Amino acid sequence: MKVTEHFKQAKGKTLVSFEILPPPKGSTIQAVFDVLDPLMELKPPFVDVTYHREEYVYKQMPSGYFEKVAIRKRPGTIGICSAISHRYGVDAVPHLLCGGFTKEETENALIDLHFLGIDNVLALRGDARAFETKFVPEENGHAYAIDLVRQITDMNNGKYLDEHVINGAKTDFCIGVAGYPEKHFESPNMRSDIINLKKKVDAGADYVVTQMFFDNQKYFDFVKMCRDAGIHVPIIPGLKPITKKYQLNSIPRRFFVDMPEDLVKAVLHAKTPEARVEAGIEWTVAQTQELKAAGVPAVHFYTMDDAKVIKEIVRRVF
Ligand code: FAD
Repeated sequence: MKVTEHFKQAKGKTLVSFEILPPPKGSTIQAVFDVLDPLMELKPPFVDVTYHREEYVYKQMPSGYFEKVAIRKRPGTIGICSAISHRYGVDAVPHLLCGGFTKEETENALIDLHFLGIDNVLALRGDARAFETKFVPEENGHAYAIDLVRQITDMNNGKYLDEHVINGAKTDFCIGVAGYPEKHFESPNMRSDIINLKKKVDAGADYVVTQMFFDNQKYFDFVKMCRDAGIHVPIIPGLKPITKKYQLNSIPRRFFVDMPEDLVKAVLHAKTPEARVEAGIEWTVAQTQELKAAGVPAVHFYTMDDAKVIKEIVRRVF
């Protein structure tokens, strides 16, 4: 079932959903089940699975020279989606990137998803790789998420890249896109970022999932700006509990988000690792309670494979 149909069926009740990561290369599917088994008791209507493109590492050769080698550390997004939708009967939402894909490879990935009965996709651009100063699309790939949304919308209308395709069946993907309550870091200002988000919605996106934020007011302001700009699709807040001290710096650096002073103080003043986890849980519980009271369609948790903490937050709120 489509993500947006779940919202309609919930009739205003706030749902809970999760994002998981494919396990590192070499792990088995059991690693995914170990994260999801406890979370399934919470009956999420859908689970997102992130996509990780290749990274480059430098390996020293016997000659002493270094060779640049491409590796994908967390492959398997589409296979994992198929496995979890069959095992749990839950809707799996694969993330699909522009980065690393030609248009043809995108079409083939979408055909695979269609065959597997997966009818939800989160369409994203992806980031620049470590050695690049800016995002570089593949030759004959997409430069922005909107171009990916357009390709998926085309397939939903039976339009494939190959104009002579025989029996080009119409797909029926529900398309999610990313939104940034604190602005995408490359955007010159919030307004231009929201104009670009509106274009993604006009191109066919059915809902928006936000980047993590730690101050709900940023989400509420963002939703208001989106509504004023004519974006009327569901906007799902994404939350991530802080559980470790180093995250106070690593998360802002990686995701370009602010940490409220009270949260920073609570984490720093905690005397033990357990007390730090509790401080993070309490903060996310308060965020979740307020978002639920405001009637958001779902609270989407970035699990980062920490099922225990997420389960405790959901237990305290729902
Ligand atoms: P876009 O919508 O293309 O926007 C990127 C930037 O370009 C923005 O600044 C936008 O304002 C600007 N822009 C858009 N269109 C135009 C245009 N026509 N002209 C000029 N500027 C334009 N990354 C992964 O690698 N794997 C994942 O699984 C993953 N999952 C994510 C899930 C969520 C919910 C979120 C919020 C992010 C996720 N990301 C993931 C990170 C994401 O790939 C990055 O944030 C990336 O930098 C931007 O992706 P986007 O889809 O928002 O890009």
